[in-house]
Amino acid sequence: MATRGLLLILLTLPLIAADSAAALGSQLRQLALDPEACFRVRDLEIPREDANIHLTDGFLIFAKPVEGRRIAAVFSGNEAGDDAEILLRPPNRSERAALSASTGSPNLNEHFRSAVFIFSDGSGDTLLKQILSGVPKPNPEMGALLAGLTSDTVRNLCESFQVRLVLDLLANDPSDGVFYAAFSGATLGNFDLLHDATLPEQIILGQVSDQHVGGFNVWASFPSRSFRQSRRAVAVEDATMENYRIQAELQPDLTLNVSTRVTAKVRERLSGALAFELAPQMEVTSARVDGQPVEVFRRESMRSKLIGNRANDPFLIILPQPFLPGTSHEIEFQHSGKVIRPAGNNVYFVAARTNWYPTRGFHFSNFDLTFRVPKELSVVATGDIAEESIEGEWRISRRRTSAPVRMAGFNVGVYEHVDTTRAGFLVQVYANRSVEPGLQARSQQVLLPQPGPATRTSGVRRVGDIVSVTPAVPDPRIRLSALAAEITSSLEWMSSHFGPPPLRTLTASPIPGNFGQGFPGLLYLSTITFLSEKERPASLQTPTNFTFYSEILYAHETAHQWWGNLVTSGTYHDDWLQEALANYSALMILERRKGARALETALEEYRNELRLTLPESKTKTAESAGPITWGMRLHTLTGIDPWRLITYGKGSWIMHMLRRRMGDNAFLSMLGEIRKRYAYAPISTEQFREIAAEFSPKGLPDDDLVNFFDNWVYGTGVPTLELSSRIKGKSPNVDLEVTVRQSNAADEFSIDVPVEIRVPGQAKPIVQWLRTGPEPASVHVKLRVPPTKVELAPGAGVLAQRK
Ligand SMILES: [Zn+2]
Repeated sequence: MATRGLLLILLTLPLIAADSAAALGSQLRQLALDPEACFRVRDLEIPREDANIHLTDGFLIFAKPVEGRRIAAVFSGNEAGDDAEILLRPPNRSERAALSASTGSPNLNEHFRSAVFIFSDGSGDTLLKQILSGVPKPNPEMGALLAGLTSDTVRNLCESFQVRLVLDLLANDPSDGVFYAAFSGATLGNFDLLHDATLPEQIILGQVSDQHVGGFNVWASFPSRSFRQSRRAVAVEDATMENYRIQAELQPDLTLNVSTRVTAKVRERLSGALAFELAPQMEVTSARVDGQPVEVFRRESMRSKLIGNRANDPFLIILPQPFLPGTSHEIEFQHSGKVIRPAGNNVYFVAARTNWYPTRGFHFSNFDLTFRVPKELSVVATGDIAEESIEGEWRISRRRTSAPVRMAGFNVGVYEHVDTTRAGFLVQVYANRSVEPGLQARSQQVLLPQPGPATRTSGVRRVGDIVSVTPAVPDPRIRLSALAAEITSSLEWMSSHFGPPPLRTLTASPIPGNFGQGFPGLLYLSTITFLSEKERPASLQTPTNFTFYSEILYAHETAHQWWGNLVTSGTYHDDWLQEALANYSALMILERRKGARALETALEEYRNELRLTLPESKTKTAESAGPITWGMRLHTLTGIDPWRLITYGKGSWIMHMLRRRMGDNAFLSMLGEIRKRYAYAPISTEQFREIAAEFSPKGLPDDDLVNFFDNWVYGTGVPTLELSSRIKGKSPNVDLEVTVRQSNAADEFSIDVPVEIRVPGQAKPIVQWLRTGPEPASVHVKLRVPPTKVELAPGAGVLAQRK
């Protein structure tokens, strides 16, 4: 018996040590600094790609090993004469400008007194080895003191990184690890540096900020030196997730119980664990790989200070054995949570729209979705209807995609709907049967005048009666048919120019709030869109809001069927393209319905918003917050949000200026060609420039559009332009001098603008291009007769304030 017991221990011990993510997680949560590994260091270099950290004088203490590895260390330079610094120079102009905007300098050169390092890239062990190979000066007394002071900080930071650290410890591949440093800078306060080989931009520098989305203000972000110099290939997708089969059951208390099955197609050897993301409201109760139960690891503390913190929460499934290239594996998750919130009065809000099932990046996949909901509710989702039935108290709805899509959405409600079939496509529009309390006008006390003259006999002069008036409850079905017709006709027009949409069925459904979202085959449209204009809240009774909710929102989300769902963007620098293309497509629908003036009015409003002054500054405009390619980094949570104004407003202007330059037909052909070339693939901003140049007329200045993109896309500026003209001489020798003066712009801001000269007897205007700059730009034109009109970039041809 004794030998058998020993054998059991021998068999189980290594399994516990290597295989339990929970055990690793608990080691990380109890991580302590190691007083025996505290050293006085002098001139210790920590080169990390483009960053150089130099510990001039001070103490460095390592954390106790986890699985034999040193994953954290603390530098302390609090004695007189102690010092350390970090130097970093972003490799391109745009990132130097970004760093300068946040820190006042295009390069980082900052002294610091203390720093916490976390590493799963092996740097901890390398550093320790380096120290031990010299003349190490261990100082356990100082170690004990520092361990007491800073262990909590180190533990907190490790806790934020615990899912990633567990993943890296299990995978045991330092080349895919992270190097993270939190500095306490002499002049800049606390700031962070991250080097992560698995990100498209491996270096991120910035500061925790409650004013920025994700709780982090990125100062600079770029590919690291070795990736730029191609010493390392950008990490290829190690596995894709395909063939999602999701069965979801909605309980009467709105808990969604889900079984998600997916096939992992493996491209590179994967060992240890696989990381997935899911809405924080969803709990993963179990997972299986090829039918075998596997461990699920999720961070214990939901509060994370992790860089790039998103609405998604990562979790790991622990692989029983490595996945080999070329193999496929079935992964099954059971998860449940409250991702649907009641908005009142039988109206529901889907809170987790992109992440209600586990994802691992977004891959084009087929989806087979089955929903069981209480029978008084209806479900709509991405895909064609495969089944609709009632079983006892349940309604069963099954949807299947007719082509691969990157994500699938759903919506629930008590609906009424209209179906339209056109050119092989089914458009279904669903409206709520009732309106949520948030959109119902409150009852008001009003004075009703007396119906007739006051009677003499009453003795009291009554003016009227105070009565309480409850306004009629708005009907959220009132625009259902009109909306269905508008969506169908915009889908038809877009299909005729951009090619067929990705899916045969497009379903539009309401969502409480002031936004929309366009999933493949499923649109969420603000419940406001469904109300007649006069029944919308008082604050929305403006022409701009009418245009937004009635004309732009549905068309914008419809256009995302192509821009965003079929053609995708490579990195966050290119995301603007999808929004700008979707919004400009919506503006073209507006132009078709309401005329060119309506389009120009919308653009003028965007321009005025771009020129609004940021609340934190007296002079900086929203547009000057940064180039459109900074994407989400422009997103702030306070006051005016530059990201929104720049992405949608300036993005639309960029598209409009390109259209004016190339003409309507070429512009529409370009959109069709983008879809042809980039369907099921990402398009970058540079690829977009190339295709736009290809469709621009030849012989114009800046025919590769490099100057256009440098100024409008990679730069900032909304100039004030003034046109003046002078006529000398008489027919047939008229000399016209045209001058464009630019002001309110940086000296380097320089754009090509067309001047249209109309002369009697000529149908087409003469077009002269001028390049603006700090000095006035002039051109002389010889004419036979004096012009009837000289105009600068007519038809809202340039994003500028006209003087
Ligand atoms: Zn959009």
